[in-house]
Amino acid sequence: MNLQVLGCSGAIAAGCRTTAFLLGEDVLIDAGTGVGDLPLDALARIDHILVSHSHLDHVLSIGLLADSVMRLRRAQNRPPIQVRALPDTLAALRTHIFNSVIWPDFTRLPSAEQPVLELLPLAVGELLLLGDKRIEVLSASHTVPAVGFAVDGGEAGWWVYTGDTGPNKALWERLKGMHVAHLVIETAFSDEERQLARISRHLCPAALGHELAQLDGSVDVHITHIKPGEMDALMAEIEKLGSPHRIHALAAGQVMQIG
Ligand SMILES: [Zn+2]
Ligand SMILES: [Zn+2]
Repeated sequence: MNLQVLGCSGAIAAGCRTTAFLLGEDVLIDAGTGVGDLPLDALARIDHILVSHSHLDHVLSIGLLADSVMRLRRAQNRPPIQVRALPDTLAALRTHIFNSVIWPDFTRLPSAEQPVLELLPLAVGELLLLGDKRIEVLSASHTVPAVGFAVDGGEAGWWVYTGDTGPNKALWERLKGMHVAHLVIETAFSDEERQLARISRHLCPAALGHELAQLDGSVDVHITHIKPGEMDALMAEIEKLGSPHRIHALAAGQVMQIG
């Protein structure tokens, strides 16, 4: 099973797209601006969208995707795209996006009986079975209710995505005893902006060091959510941590093998 990084940047600029991962060809994990690089037929094959939290950089392509694929999916008689998120996240999407002011309510379009989107709740600790994919919902600690996701790669180990998060002891407790092959973890701010990282419940390199010290073994760690223009300075700060893990910056376009 392949996982394609469509976007992993903390904001937009030329060549920088916000968070979105395509797992196989039918599961999207977060729906940032990176989704827009997929051709229409690939967009129409997405049957599930897992949403880590309600922030715009992770959700803005849900509504745009629905608009793009609605006709094609109806012509192919495909079921609604299942959007799964915490109940609070779904409520935020209903109230603030699919409210017929910011965007049409695609949970009732093209018809209330056969809409293009269906919103379904998930909970931390739940194991989602989507076709042949097993995905566990992980806790995250952010300014709004948030989760991460772990994809089961069988004997090859788990692919783990923290979502947007500040320090989160519960995550490391859960990962103890799990064979983690890949950890995609955010580092949104530099150490110079550690105060901003703290109040916005994100990580800076120093906080990342504290978090990774709670992860056993030597794991392939991929840094995500770096702001445009800050890549080199931030990775230099992370390099100085001297972590036993193999740490690299994640790149859009990268394809990861899971299992
Ligand atoms: Zn966020
Ligand atoms: Zn974000």
